[in-house]
Amino acid sequence: MVINLPKPNSQFAMKTPTTILAIVPFLLLYVSMADSDPIQDTLLQCLSNLSQPLSPPISSVTYFPNDSSYTPVLQSYIRNLRFSTPKTPKPSFIVTPTHVSHIQASILCSKIHTLQVRIRSGGHDYDGLSYISDVPFIIIDMFNLQSITVNIEDESAWVESGATLGEVYYRIAEQSKVHGYPAGVCPTVGVGGHLSGDWQGTMAE
Ligand SMILES: Cc1cc2nc3c(=O)[nH]c(=O)nc-3n(C[C@H](O)[C@H](O)[C@H](O)COP(=O)(O)OP(=O)(O)OC[C@H]3O[C@@H](n4cnc5c(N)ncnc54)[C@H](O)[C@@H]3O)c2cc1C
Repeated sequence: MVINLPKPNSQFAMKTPTTILAIVPFLLLYVSMADSDPIQDTLLQCLSNLSQPLSPPISSVTYFPNDSSYTPVLQSYIRNLRFSTPKTPKPSFIVTPTHVSHIQASILCSKIHTLQVRIRSGGHDYDGLSYISDVPFIIIDMFNLQSITVNIEDESAWVESGATLGEVYYRIAEQSKVHGYPAGVCPTVGVGGHLSGDWQGTMAE
């Protein structure tokens, strides 16, 4: 398909490139100054320095309040909507680790910068303990770490913290009709919070 481009006004055509070239450096400088937050840069540097060099870059799974994905990531596992209001305290940043060293780096950098750590797996804590605090804090959200490896031979399973109970039951049922796991009845409860505190269910009682 041929597209007819309009002929440029000769006066405009002569002056515009020079003007644009003169303005562009200032625009770039303005944009980079507007985007640069020294505290954020320091935190990101700390996270990068303390995660393993060969791990996926932690910057790609770190969300600060001025990132467009910050609010969707924060809200995705808030199960009690009472804690999803503009007045609800918000984390300084959220890390969604894809590598174990991201967790280590997040904990170390939080300690260095005096930020409390909140860990969230399924987000089912109805007091919001996994995603709110009354002091400056960060969230380590485990939802990317959700692999489940079932070994029916030795009747064991290796489950990452961000998996849900329903996913665990499903993966076991895929391999065996006589095996199960004695945990809670709600399929969206996270393994991390459940196994570290609760653990009531029909098979467990
Ligand atoms: C609808 C519903 C149904 C439920 N059904 C049952 C049931 O049948 N049986 C039962 O026993 N309980 C049940 N519960 C309670 C549930 O097991 C607990 O609330 C559990 O702590 C939720 O875990 P989570 O990972 O989803 O929550 P989260 O809010 O992510 O975490 C809960 C707590 O554990 C901490 N935590 C999470 N991940 C980690 C981690 N990797 N390392 C260290 N700490 C971590 C969090 O910081 C927080 O303090 C139910 C809850 C709800 C809301």
